[in-house]
Amino acid sequence: MARVYNFGAGPAIMPLDVLQEAQADLVDFKGSGMSVMEMSHRGKEYDAIHNEAIANLRELMGLNDDYAILFIQGGASLQFAMLPMNFLGEGQTADYVNAGSWGAAAVKQARMIGNVNIAADCQKDIPTRMPDAGEMKWTPGAAYSHLTTNETISGAQFKSIPETGSPLVGDMSSDILSRPLDYTKFTMIYAGAQKNLGPSGVAMVAIRKDFAGKGSISIPTMLRYQTHIENNSLYNTPPCFSIYMLCLTTRWLKKNGMQKIFQTNRDKAQLIYDVIDASGFYRGTAKKEYRSDMNVTFRLPTEELETLFIKQASEAGMKQLKGHRSVGGIRASIYNAFPAAGVKALVDFMKDFEKRNG
Ligand SMILES: *Cc1c(COP(=O)(O)O)cnc(C)c1O
Repeated sequence: MARVYNFGAGPAIMPLDVLQEAQADLVDFKGSGMSVMEMSHRGKEYDAIHNEAIANLRELMGLNDDYAILFIQGGASLQFAMLPMNFLGEGQTADYVNAGSWGAAAVKQARMIGNVNIAADCQKDIPTRMPDAGEMKWTPGAAYSHLTTNETISGAQFKSIPETGSPLVGDMSSDILSRPLDYTKFTMIYAGAQKNLGPSGVAMVAIRKDFAGKGSISIPTMLRYQTHIENNSLYNTPPCFSIYMLCLTTRWLKKNGMQKIFQTNRDKAQLIYDVIDASGFYRGTAKKEYRSDMNVTFRLPTEELETLFIKQASEAGMKQLKGHRSVGGIRASIYNAFPAAGVKALVDFMKDFEKRNG
């Protein structure tokens, strides 16, 4: 079996154990005689998977019954629209931090629905960064406030969560369950699954039930959080197989232990940043205090060298290191499932490449 080191930003690497377990059960799930892809979403086998996935997420995030855990299709991108459609009414304002491509994408959708205040704007800053604590201006009585906790493309990450004075909503698509965090600071959290939680096809939403209850009732049924809460995310056919893979991934997280995963994530990122900092050849693109532990972004002296770096890394079994097409450069995405051995291989390659080309 030839598995590569997959540095892709999303869809991203999945734990090998999870893939193999799914493979073993693919055509006959636990003696049911059918695949999870083929069974009723109202049957007892699927029901157990669905509810275990919810229970595991609840446990891993440390959220009690004040929160509903939902599975909704349409990715994080639909959440950009659903959030203001539910909560940004006439005469209200929502605060948004605009610190990167994903924050800007969320702002764009919210503006189609209602009034948006940009609490801080550092989207165009180089090096890329998150706003400092004193820099963010919150609207008293805002309908909600929104941040992207980790900007997947620029490689900048909030290291502490600001107090905003209004219900806080976090797009955690690329750093959910990757570090110690008090999730109860948030009124709502959403994440497309395909980075840290499983495959694409589903977004996880954790939302305070009292907040959801205040959502608009004059929007289509499928777009209301309340609908998904009342039906335990089974109003219509959910993406059963994606939720099954997410369930296995949450089991894998529990088995490994979150403290160990957090520490490994820190160590993995530090290893790459250490090489960058010790070198005059590589240049990190994010400001030091906001460097992401999930997406490590850096540049080489020329674009030609970047192309060569990506080509030679690929030949050595390190794939998808090319930065996002909007920014170029190199991006190493090292989510929970990315093995430490792959990071070791990358830093060895980086040192060697610098020696040969520096
Ligand atoms: C990937 C990503 C998105 C978009 O997710 P989709 O599920 O493709 O819609 C949004 N926000 C962040 C922070 C992301 O990393």
